[in-house]
Amino acid sequence: MNYNKKTVCDIDIKGKKVLLRCDFNVPQDKVTGEITSDKRIVAALPTIRYLLDNGAAVIACSHLGKPAATFDSYVKKQVEKGKDPASVTEESWKKSLKKLTLAPIAKRLSELLGQEVIFAADVAGEDARAKAAALKGGEIMLLENTRFEKGETKNDPVFAQKLASLAEVYVSDAFGTVHRAHASTAGVAAYLPAVSGLLVAKELDVMGKALDEPKRPFVAVLGGAKVSDKIGVINNLLEKADTIIIGGGMAYTFAKAQGGEIGKSLLEADKMDYALEMIEKAKAKGVKLLLPTDTLAAKEFSADAQPATVDAMKIPEDMMGMDIGPETVKAFCAAVSGAGTIVWNGPMGVFEFPAFANGTKAMAKALAESGAVTIIGGGDSAAAAEQLGFADKITHISTGGGASLEFLEGLELPGVACLLDK
Ligand code: AMP
Repeated sequence: MNYNKKTVCDIDIKGKKVLLRCDFNVPQDKVTGEITSDKRIVAALPTIRYLLDNGAAVIACSHLGKPAATFDSYVKKQVEKGKDPASVTEESWKKSLKKLTLAPIAKRLSELLGQEVIFAADVAGEDARAKAAALKGGEIMLLENTRFEKGETKNDPVFAQKLASLAEVYVSDAFGTVHRAHASTAGVAAYLPAVSGLLVAKELDVMGKALDEPKRPFVAVLGGAKVSDKIGVINNLLEKADTIIIGGGMAYTFAKAQGGEIGKSLLEADKMDYALEMIEKAKAKGVKLLLPTDTLAAKEFSADAQPATVDAMKIPEDMMGMDIGPETVKAFCAAVSGAGTIVWNGPMGVFEFPAFANGTKAMAKALAESGAVTIIGGGDSAAAAEQLGFADKITHISTGGGASLEFLEGLELPGVACLLDK
């Protein structure tokens, strides 16, 4: 994929109306609706400030949650949850939409920016059109939740064109959604000159460089629950990395495939052939593939289960692997310490339980102390680095979990492919 895309700095935006796709999909308190972390809003500020300071009229937009865009789709969702369709009313649908309004985000954004954020009551309807038409350079407005429109997730060209008609330029700055071909993340680019914002530009620059011209040795650390989620990533990284470290729940499928006894550990039996294939492929390509040699196991999956260190290939029948063992921690950290570039995606164990968080903690620390270019691909590993206070020692923590995984798989990201080449 070509990552060399034009950014907001490469085009003239003075006096122009700019449609800016942000990722304002923030966590909210289920009861009060209060924003519990404004990290994503804060992350969008540099691009917003750049646009405003350079005289653009900013029309920001984002999705929030997964609203049902039509009453029919709401009924379908409720029936799937086990509700009687006769009890589902239009009123409850409208109430569910109200919970996902972007109005509180407009308020928070306004506080952070120190200027008014005009809020439109619809996405590309009458209110949005009137407010966008009146918007001047240096002013900002926010559209209502893009997923309130059924054309959004379908990437409907009619809706995309309607949305695009509000503006003269499109800026993509929602890295968390660039792997989705939706109207506001990709469709609009068919009707407007499209460039990246500063956040997306940084993601493409750091991750693109790591994959295409890594400082070597290039070490990839993969963990998490399932092999099946990481097949594409392992395949692609086998072409690029010098060492691949596999920990977490996915490692047990590799152990079992090689004749190990894994007790009650996570297993994807249908991925055992694939695991063997990867081991062979790594050998053929001269890529070091490191797997756990010992495991912290327990009799039940619980926070207060008693941990025991066992051989990774001989896990007792009544036990399951919950974290990498101390010998493995040492070996994995040693492999990481001499690296030039490290990419990490997925925890080394069930880090949500403190007794089984040691492997993930040690990995976060090893990355922070490695002196290498370090990239964490969102999700749980990013949360671990943040919780442990190592985040500021990591070169780049991606803002997109799913998007960064697809990036590592070498897949084309629709929200990036649609931007103008440099
Ligand atoms: P993923 O979303 O694939 O990155 O997986 C993250 C999840 O994998 C976390 O919730 C971990 O608790 C889980 N996980 C990691 N190691 C294990 C393990 N050994 N057994 C069960 N779950 C695990």
